[in-house]
Amino acid sequence: MADNADCLFCRIVRGEVPAKVVYEDDAVVAFADLNPQAPTHVLVVPREHIPDVTQFGAYPPEVIGAVMQGVAAAADQVRAPGGFRAVANVGPDSGQSVMHLHFHVLSGRRLAWPPG
Ligand code: AMP
Ligand code: ZN
Repeated sequence: MADNADCLFCRIVRGEVPAKVVYEDDAVVAFADLNPQAPTHVLVVPREHIPDVTQFGAYPPEVIGAVMQGVAAAADQVRAPGGFRAVANVGPDSGQSVMHLHFHVLSGRRLAWPPG
């Protein structure tokens, strides 16, 4: 699927919008969230414009596998020793504001469960 010219995260992947990149591989780019909710708050996005996890079935399993391996590798690189949360919002009730799949990786403090 082609890059979305106007998509903020596609623009970050292409280097058109600056971001503090902390990890990248062939499938994903991970960068610091502008509005961090934990001492470590990184967004891991596929290089390809996948809107959200509900679209996973439209892609070959190896593409989705590479994205999820990228999420795991990025999270393992930035995490604090105590653990982390990786979460992907979908739809307005979740607070999703950017329609390009992104996993939030939150770490470095005790995270509430259930989330607010
Ligand atoms: P969501 O609400 O799940 O769609 O998450 C979108 C996230 O993107 C929010 O946590 C924002 O703080 C973050 N964000 C928005 N614009 C940028 C940007 N230019 N660079 C880094 N993070 C951003
Ligand atoms: Zn995009």
